[in-house]
This record gives sequence, structure tokens and C-alpha cells, in this order.
Amino acid sequence: MTQTYPTPRGKLTENRVLSDLTWLRVGGPADALFQPADLADLQGFLAALDPSVAVFPMGVGSNLIVRDGGIRAVVIRMGRGFNHINIYGNRVTAGVAALDAHVARKAAEAGLDLTFLRTIPGAIGGAVRMNAGCYGSYVADHFVSARAVTREGALVTLTADDLNFQYRQTDLPEGWVIVEATFEAESADPEVLAARMEEQLAKRDATQPVKERSAGSTFRNPAGFSSTGKADDVHDLKAWKVIDDAGLRGFSIGGAQMSEKHSNFMINTGEASAHDLELLGETVRKKVFQNAGLTLQWEIKRIGEFSGEPIPDGLAEAQKSGA
Ligand SMILES: Cc1cc2nc3c(=O)[nH]c(=O)nc-3n(C[C@H](O)[C@H](O)[C@H](O)COP(=O)(O)OP(=O)(O)OC[C@H]3O[C@@H](n4cnc5c(N)ncnc54)[C@H](O)[C@@H]3O)c2cc1C
Repeated sequence: MTQTYPTPRGKLTENRVLSDLTWLRVGGPADALFQPADLADLQGFLAALDPSVAVFPMGVGSNLIVRDGGIRAVVIRMGRGFNHINIYGNRVTAGVAALDAHVARKAAEAGLDLTFLRTIPGAIGGAVRMNAGCYGSYVADHFVSARAVTREGALVTLTADDLNFQYRQTDLPEGWVIVEATFEAESADPEVLAARMEEQLAKRDATQPVKERSAGSTFRNPAGFSSTGKADDVHDLKAWKVIDDAGLRGFSIGGAQMSEKHSNFMINTGEASAHDLELLGETVRKKVFQNAGLTLQWEIKRIGEFSGEPIPDGLAEAQKSGA
């Protein structure tokens, strides 16, 4: 049976391929892509949408592999009606479509230090959802509250307790869409903050493939536990190092490659499919386990359906073969 959708004031596109909306430039079609005009449009659409239809909010796709078979859901992507940035005292309130970099720059001009957001390529919704962070600061350190729309269309306020911030993760009920977040920041000299952001950009450029199609770090840094489940002495294992040690810097499958510049960044060299990228990741997990007995966990979110056979879990394969 074909699904019918409520008619919003914003844009609704059925069977919309998502590849051009992700940094890795891969991904099949969503059942529908909804770009709400504003908050009321989003609320009205969700309230009227058949409750059995899944909803997936996305930002600018800088942490996503959308699989080649696409997503059986309405994907919601916020734009112009959600990109305000307002500053009152030491607080910055930003709509979820505001880019992290713009928020950092606006805050710095007002003498507020959210500089850690300057080099993260996502938008504010993704930053809150992923508890984004770098150079020692995370969203959780500055978070005051957020507003979100539930799957039923109600507007609610979320506290830090509701979101339960963890490493690159929060708890948000399925289908809820964050629309705005408020952060608190320390005061500092705008010139000092501008200089700090320039330094951070230069550091990124020197160490990461920032001009390539990537989704940032592919895997979390291993927590320092071996496959035996016993705590190791070392707790600062870096994913890039264990990938290097397994000889996988530059390793490629099809158009997908572990970057020569930063071995924990997976890049699309041109013609990669989501299948190539995910198979590369699972092969890296397998080889790292075989080499060092270490388990790598994905940091990139993989969503949607495979277009053919599912890709086997590389780690499970390595563990089964007793490697
Ligand atoms: C070159 C590069 C460098 C990176 N460096 C860093 C880094 O230093 N630190 C870091 O933390 N990350 C880094 N990342 C990863 C990525 O930029 C962050 O995870 C970012 O916060 C994702 O934001 P996004 O808008 O792209 O979200 P998306 O990738 O579109 O989505 C990510 C998740 O957020 C959810 N989401 C997005 N918007 C909403 C919303 N409005 N409501 C509810 N859920 C939502 C999605 O459902 C999905 O689960 C990097 C990525 C790249 C490409």
C-alpha cells in the first residue's frame, strides 16, 4: 500500500535519494524527505503523520553512512526556519540548522568561548545529539537546555538529565526532533578567541583530510579493555594507532579508503558506495582484532537498508574464527 503524507507548508519530496545530503556522498532514497518551513509546520506535520511511519531527523550528514538501499522513513532536515543564533548575557541559543562553525564565530564576536565548535563540520542538532566535542570540550560542558518536538508533534524542553550525555552519544526517544539548543559560555577577549579558532583550523588542516569526503573519526578510541574483558594498563589507545599497527593506513576497498593522512578517517575517493565504505570498516575491525585483539566500535552512524546481502560484522567473524 502506498503511504500518503500530510501536506506541509514546507517541502516534502517522496523517494528522495540522500547521497548529495551526506558528507560521504553515498546513500539510497528515503521514502520521503521533509524540509519544514518553521516550527509550527514541523509540529503540524508530525501530529498528522500516520503514527506507524518512522521519522529520522538529520543534520548536514557529517557523521552518517546512509546505506545504498535507503531509509524506510520520513527523513526530516531543517533549514532556514531553524538557523537563528541569539545571544543574551553568557547564553547562546541556536536553531538546529545553524552550523557549529557559525555559532562559534558569532559567540566569539560577542566575547563568548564556544571555540570548540569552530572546526566541527555539523549543525547544532547533530552536535547536541552526538555530544560533539574536540580539543577537550564537549557540548555537555556548555549545555543548558534544548527544545524538541516529539513524534506526536508536541513541543518539549529537554534538560541535560533528559539527554544523559555520554561519549559521542545521548538518549533521545525515537523520532523526536531537536529544534533549538541553549549553551552557556565563559567570557573572553574576542581577538583571543578568533586567534584560537585560526590555530584550531590550521591544526585540523595539518593532521586530517579536511578537504576529502569523510565523516570524521570512523571508530571510537578503544577504551583500554582487551578482548579478554580485563582492564589493560593502557587507557589511552588511539584508534588511528591500532589501525596503523595493523598495516591499514591507506587500505582501500573499491572507492573507499582509510586516509593516508589520518588512518581513522574513512574517505570516499570518488566512486565509493555505502557498501564499499561499510565493508572497509568491517574489514578494518576484523584485521585490528586479528592483529591486536582489540575491538573497534563504529563512531560513524550507519543507517538504512542494504541494497543486497547484509555486510557481516567483521569483529564477530574474527572472534568466531578464534583469531
Ligand atoms: C572532517 C570531519 C571532522 C569531524 N570532527 C569531529 C570532531 O572533532 N568532533 C566531533 O564530535 N565530531 C566530529 N565530526 C563528526 C560530525 O561532524 C559530528 O558528529 C556532528 O555533530 C554531526 O552533525 P550533523 O549535523 O552532520 O549530523 P548528522 O550527521 O546529520 O546526524 C548525526 C546524528 O544526529 C542526529 N540529529 C541530527 N540533527 C538532529 C536533530 N535536529 N534532532 C535530533 N537528532 C538529530 C541524527 O539523527 C544522527 O543520529 C567530524 C566530521 C567530519 C566530516
